[in-house]
Amino acid sequence: MKRSVKRWLNRMLCREAAGNSRAMSRLWDLVYPPHCPLCGSDGGRGLCTICRNEIGDGAGRRCGRCGQPAGPHLTSSDLSRCFHCRGRQWAFRGVERLGLYEGALREACIGGKSDGAEPLAAALGEWFWECRGAALRRLGVDLVVPVPQHWTKRIAVAHNQAETLAGVLGRCLRVPVGRHILRKARRTPDQSSLSAARRRANLGDSFCVWRRGRIDGVHVLLVDDVLTTGTTAHQAARTLRQGGADRVSVAVVAVVSVTAGRSDRATI
Ligand SMILES: [Zn+2]
Ligand SMILES: [Zn+2]
Repeated sequence: MKRSVKRWLNRMLCREAAGNSRAMSRLWDLVYPPHCPLCGSDGGRGLCTICRNEIGDGAGRRCGRCGQPAGPHLTSSDLSRCFHCRGRQWAFRGVERLGLYEGALREACIGGKSDGAEPLAAALGEWFWECRGAALRRLGVDLVVPVPQHWTKRIAVAHNQAETLAGVLGRCLRVPVGRHILRKARRTPDQSSLSAARRRANLGDSFCVWRRGRIDGVHVLLVDDVLTTGTTAHQAARTLRQGGADRVSVAVVAVVSVTAGRSDRATI
């Protein structure tokens, strides 16, 4: 099959995952049998059992504010004792995540960024919902907003993994997805190449709210694929709150473990 045709069908499949076209799903099954978008094994649509087991189901104690693994001493009402985020001032309330940025989940996050990887990103979003849907629902958000890319980056890679994830979570939560509310106002150097201090300076005032009236008083779920230091999420949440949002919670597929060190491939 020609690569361009395959890519087009991939995009259609992704839209189907967002609930738009069941007919396109059947067409896809005819010309390209379902397979796991991560390992490529035949079977059903979405992540296969092996990949799901390797990625994990998000079980285990974690800090509700930063998403880092938490010991038995930490309760959800005592976040001030979290060693990792104690003293940090963020514009978002907390982080809901599937797992840590390592192993198969790291591989999936990196693969989901590439052009034509919408089905992988959608499958990750669906697995995220399956594992953490109850926690996400309890947040009671009104609107889902993906962390945006600068338009010049969209030219190079048409697919934004955060946008695909936001589409899946918005459909599952049954709340609107504001794809164009938050915008990247200027192009910034890749966060992965910078120190923590330079990350904060790099992203200062880099976001803007496009349609302010739409987010007055709402609780926004800000969605991205990976959270590293929290700088991107903080800057985006701050911009949303300055634009009228009442509260911002964050949902990411993976959090980079503080104890494991900062990955060179993590980007936010
Ligand atoms: Zn698989
Ligand atoms: Zn914490």
